Amino acid sequence: MSRYLMNTYARLPVAFTRGEGVWLWDTEGRRYLDAVAGVAVCGIGHAHPRLAQALCQQAQTLIHTSNLYRVPLQEQLAERLCALSGMDNAFFCNSGAEANEAAIKLARLYGHRKGIETPIIIVMERAFHGRTMATLTATGNRKVQAGFEPLLGGFARVPYNDIRAVEQVGEHNRNVVAVLVEPFQGEGGVQVPEATYLERLRAVCDRFGWLLMLDEVQCGIGRTGQWFAFQHTRMLPDVITLAKGLGSGVPVGACLARGAAAEVFKPGTHGSTFGGGPLACTAALTTLAVIDEERLLENAAGIGRLMLESFQERFSGIAGVVEVRGQGLMIGIELNRPCQELVQWAMESGVLINVTADNVIRLLPPLIITREQARQVVDTVVSVVTRFLSNEARKTWS
Ligand SMILES: *Cc1c(COP(=O)(O)O)cnc(C)c1O
Repeated sequence: MSRYLMNTYARLPVAFTRGEGVWLWDTEGRRYLDAVAGVAVCGIGHAHPRLAQALCQQAQTLIHTSNLYRVPLQEQLAERLCALSGMDNAFFCNSGAEANEAAIKLARLYGHRKGIETPIIIVMERAFHGRTMATLTATGNRKVQAGFEPLLGGFARVPYNDIRAVEQVGEHNRNVVAVLVEPFQGEGGVQVPEATYLERLRAVCDRFGWLLMLDEVQCGIGRTGQWFAFQHTRMLPDVITLAKGLGSGVPVGACLARGAAAEVFKPGTHGSTFGGGPLACTAALTTLAVIDEERLLENAAGIGRLMLESFQERFSGIAGVVEVRGQGLMIGIELNRPCQELVQWAMESGVLINVTADNVIRLLPPLIITREQARQVVDTVVSVVTRFLSNEARKTWS
């Protein structure tokens, strides 16, 4: 580990030098099946030739001009994202946290325009929205916040998947202006709410005049088998935030808005030097084109269902496995004990997996994954989990 890097990550002792599709090769030439995809970033796989070519060409043409001028690729990307999502306009930035910062600022400004001096945004327990001061305050995880006090004011927290709790805040607090929520929680342990949750949230927001703001940074861009996770329902949010899968690893984030929310920002109210530059927009436009042309939504939905069903089948009745859940290629396997060491075990078997919220195995494979490759992930995970649970049992008996 380099002493020249700030100590912000407990990194695994492996480095990759090359990728192709779902595969990564390390410095020793060992090959791994990447079922993390750079944390839901590399949806179209590593080193997609079409993306590589588009980026090369754009780099040779124009990388940056700033938002002092029109950026035609940014206008194209905004139009495409609006067509896919039903939103009216877009603001571009460089990360998920920044996309959520934009949404938080938008909601506060929306409140001030309505004469609310201290606007409040309802956020959820176990939520993850980023590491900037506003987004770590919105995050529902003390570990993310501890040591960074004073946190920001202007947030009220309720349990996830609990409509009544949201209504109760509204009944007691006239300053609420918005709800910020992940359609499926990622870092919080791949939490899947009731199927009607978003639609009922929409109804509550309409009743109180609040904005419904969806953090689709992780679950958006095809991850769950639809372009956006809210498209599993029949409602439209007011604001959507995107990042991870949007640029296939080239940093790009977006805050999309609709209706009154789309009219909030004016020149001078928000901005970003790098946001929506030609290179990032090329990455995003190419990513969207590849998802479309390679029919990756269908693939994510179909392979995701297969994986979920085989896990459910093979783990049924196994003591220690609490639940298998997910949507599309966002899959969580909750164990009844912390299981971080499984990451190392699976890596030794040639598969990259992730563990989040201490005891939830999280799989976020590239959207291009084939049946065969999905079977390899399932076989490896079932095998390491089985070994892990029996080892643990032996430990407690001895
Ligand atoms: C990763 C993530 C973020 C933060 O994105 P960064 O690009 O790391 O700032 C925000 N929200 C959700 C749901 C995420 O998964």
